[in-house]
Formats: sequence, structure tokens, C-alpha cells
Amino acid sequence: MKHDKSNILHGLAAAPGLAIAVAHLYTKEEIKVIPEDITDIDEALNSLHQALEKSKKELRKVFDLAVDKLGENRAAIFEAQLMILDDPILIKQIEDRIRNEKKSPDFIVDDEISKYQKMMRRSSETYLKERSHDIEDIKQRIIRNIKKRKWISRIENDVNVVAPLLTPADSVLFSRVNVKGYVTDHGGLTSHAAIVARSLNIPAVVGLHDATAKIRNGDLIIVDGFHGNVIINPDSDQLNYFKERIEKLSLLDSELSALKDLPAETLDGRKIKLLANLDLQDEIDLVMQNGAEGIGLVRTEQIFQEHDIFPEEEEQFKIYKGLAEKLFPNDVTIRTLDIGGDKVLPVDVQEPNPFLGWRGVRLLLDNKNLFKKQIRAILRSSIHRNVKMMIPMIASIREIRESKKLIEECKQELRIENLQFDEEIKIGIMIEVPSAAVMAKEYADEVSFFSIGTNDLIQYLLAVDRGNDIISNLYQEFHPAVVRTLNHIITEGKSGGVEITICGEMAADLIAIPLLVGLGLDAISVSPSAIPFLKRLIRNLNYSEAKRLADECLKLRTEPEINHKLKNFYESKLLDVTKNIFN
Ligand code: PEP
Ligand code: MG
Repeated sequence: MKHDKSNILHGLAAAPGLAIAVAHLYTKEEIKVIPEDITDIDEALNSLHQALEKSKKELRKVFDLAVDKLGENRAAIFEAQLMILDDPILIKQIEDRIRNEKKSPDFIVDDEISKYQKMMRRSSETYLKERSHDIEDIKQRIIRNIKKRKWISRIENDVNVVAPLLTPADSVLFSRVNVKGYVTDHGGLTSHAAIVARSLNIPAVVGLHDATAKIRNGDLIIVDGFHGNVIINPDSDQLNYFKERIEKLSLLDSELSALKDLPAETLDGRKIKLLANLDLQDEIDLVMQNGAEGIGLVRTEQIFQEHDIFPEEEEQFKIYKGLAEKLFPNDVTIRTLDIGGDKVLPVDVQEPNPFLGWRGVRLLLDNKNLFKKQIRAILRSSIHRNVKMMIPMIASIREIRESKKLIEECKQELRIENLQFDEEIKIGIMIEVPSAAVMAKEYADEVSFFSIGTNDLIQYLLAVDRGNDIISNLYQEFHPAVVRTLNHIITEGKSGGVEITICGEMAADLIAIPLLVGLGLDAISVSPSAIPFLKRLIRNLNYSEAKRLADECLKLRTEPEINHKLKNFYESKLLDVTKNIFN
């Protein structure tokens, strides 16, 4: 098929698959409040109360997370906001106005709270003037929550969503209304929204720059998540071509499912453990169906995101134990909370560089109660001895040792409380910050396993934001510095006796697999839907050839040279194996 027709937009292939559906433009920035007439007063009141409850829960989450860090003054502001949400006079006034004026609840909330703000701004007391800003916050929060509810009920099933940018939370939200594909103006391949799309098995194309300007609501669009193309109002040739491809893909699916119970073993007998990354609890069935040999990464921040408040120890324990039991006897690697970066904090902290900011283990060590709750839950879920614990964003030995100290403290508490756990539980770290890569040898003495997070490692090594489409051409997984750093981590880690997995998205790139296997990784962890393809590929690969390929790549000096070498290897040895996936 020609890829240069004028109705084709080109972007980044963020999640594989094909989706033909009408476009639904989603531009959530514009929270416009207009006085819409309503007919169903009960529904409006209901929507108001649910938004108030949701806002309360969100604010409590804020408390939970950062009271220590933000200090008493900040906490007092949240307290004041919570009091507004519970103010019976204000709520009654809003309810009465909805009943009498029959206008939409967001409009009444806006109008009523704005009245208070005006009064406060006119006041001569500085304190009251300042408080008017805090009230703006809470007003926006309630309106956003009313709107969101409305939006979910309005979105039709089976559409391709077209948006300027999506957050991971948006992706989860969309999955509940059966969205078929995503198209965004911005975002990079390893942004968490793209990763969640992959987990949900929803084809996605990101970084198109002007998709929201070129696509109109109701246009029929085809999302080609293999090539990163979006076809607007396809002609009959294009439509037939893609319908045929969708049929071929479902045939391929059934071929691949025959491999489910076979090992990922190269032709010359090297076994690679193929594990799954788990972003959403619902994915667990997909993990089993696709024949994963365990879970290499549970992104617990998603579990936290699915709840309105941070789950208590008991609730977390149930979730982790459920996963461990479902996977038994295979292992489950649970990563402690890696919030921050593009997984926005539920707190009102404005960071100039979130990816270089309060994220992962930094935030956990600053919130010891939150960290300990999670450690205790993970420990207690380990009774069947198939759970491992992994700490994200490690950048120094101090962070490893402080985390291990807290783990020891939790173990001691559990012993005293007579609660069971695996005394030998394996503790590992993500290697995703360049300082950790450099220090791999020393860190190997501290822990039992490494998991290489190339999504972050590449962004920090090359100083290229993983979510920024403007510079996505500079985000290069085959940059010689990346290849050599991977080699350094693997060589040093192995000589220190740790097991090494890769769990970044690079591992789902078919072209990269011979290189990764050749570099000597023990295990590969990817989105569950990528496992069958990878297994087929590894089963058709020669380890000795892959090793030679890796050695050659390590000598090259530029990205195009390595890219070219890997493509050549793939096309000459493996193309037949993955035929029908791309075309
Ligand atoms: C990574 O950084 O490669 C990784 C697997 O973690 P995350 O994508 O959640 O940052
Ligand atoms: Mg990471």
C-alpha cells in the first residue's frame, strides 16, 4: 500500500495493532462552564454529590502522600479545602439553585463559589484575599470532576480517540468505554500513556503534531499502530487493504497461541526467561494466556491510580497476594511505587523538571509511612516464596541501603506480630539512572537482581525527555552509548552474580531482540501482548550469531551504523518469522 497519500498522517508507532473506527475528538483542556438547561434534576444532584465525594478522596490522597514533605501550612490549606466540601450551607445553596434554576451543576458550582471569592477578594484582610486562590483550586477540582463524569457517559463505545495529549489515567479511563485506538498530537513512545495503551492492547499513534487540527469529530479513521500512520476518511482501496490485514492478524494470533507452552529457547539451546510487565490488574489473564513465565515488573503506581486513595496495607496485601497466587509457581516482581515524572503526583507540587524531581525511591524515602505500608504488604504476600521486591529510580548506594534498612525494620515488625513472610525474599533494583549503571559492580554486592529500565535509562543517558515528540528522533535505543552502557551493566552485574532482566520498552522492539540476547540478558519482561511474537523470534535465533552481532555493535561509533547492522541481521535471518505482523 502507498504510504504517501494525502489523507495519511505520519507519527510514532506507540502501540501495535490496527483499528478502524470513527474519530472522537477529546480536548479536555477547555473546561468551559456554560449555563446548560437540564431536565433530570436527580441526575444533576447525583452528579454533584459524586463529584464532591471524588474531590474529597483526591484531597485525602494528597494528605496521605505529602503531609511530611509539604509541612503544616500546606496541610492547613487542604484542610480548609476539605471543610468547603463539607460546608452544609454552601452545599444546600448549590442544591437549591440546581432545583430552582434547572441549570447544569458545574455552572451553579462555578457561579456560587465565585460569589464567595469576589467577597473575599474585596476584603481588606490579606489573609482572606489569599484564601480566595485556594478556593479557586477546589472550585476547579469539583467542576473537573463533574465534567469528567459527564464526559464518560457521553463517549460512545468503539471510537478512535483523538487528543492533544493523554495521561496514563486517561488511558485507563478510556479502556472502560471500549476505545478502539488512540491518536495524539504529542507524546513519545515510552511515555506512560503509550505504555498503558500497549498494556491495554489498544493500537496507538502518538506525536502527530496536528492530528486534532486535521481530524474532525465523526471522520472515519484507521489507526495503524505498526507503522505509526493514521488514515483519515480512507478510500475503498485503503479500507479493503486494512480489513484484509486485520483478518490476517487474527490468523497470526491463532498460530502464535500454539507456542504458549513452549520455552523461549534459541536454536542452539540458550534459554531466555520471557516475563510480562503488568500495568493494570485486569491484565493478569492476558499474562497467563500469552504464556509468560512470570511477571518481571508490576507497576504498582497504576494500582494506586485505580484507587481514589492510597490503599491501606491490608488492601495492598490482598492485591499482591492475589497476583502471587495466580502466578504460582512462577515469580512475581513487585516494584514499589514509582510515582512522579509523567505519572503526575496527586499533590499540588509544581516541579520545574518532574523527571529530574521527586520521583520513585526519593519520594518513598521521604514518606516512610507510605513506603513501609507497601513493603509490609509485599512481604506478607511472599509466603509462597515466589515474590520479589524491586526499588525504582535508584541513583545512589545510600538509597539502596536506606530502603534495605526499612525492609529489615518491616521484617522485624512482622516477626513480632507473628505474621508470615519469605525470610529469603529477593530484593532488586531498577537500573535506569546512569549513575546506577556506572556503579553496577558495587550495586551488585547489595542486591539479588537488576532490572534494566531502558525507558528512563535512555532519557537520562542521552538527556532526551521520553515523552517529548519534538525531539523523539534523538531518543535512540541504538545510540552507541546506550548499547555500551547495557553491556557494562550486564557484564558487571553478572560478574557480581546478580540476575539481569530488561523491562523497558526496548525489549518489545523486534529488531533489538538479537542484540539484547547477544549481550547476555537472562530475562526479558514486556507487555503481555508482545510475548508470543518475541517467543517465536527467540526460538528462531542462534545465540552464537546474536553474540557475534552484539560484539560487532559494541565496536561501532554511530547510531545509524548500529541501526543498519541490526536491521540487516533481522531482514536476512528473521523477517520470515515475523511476516504478517507489519505487512
Ligand atoms: C523503565 O524506565 O524502563 C521502566 C520499565 O520503568 P517505567 O517505564 O515505569 O519508568
Ligand atoms: Mg523507569
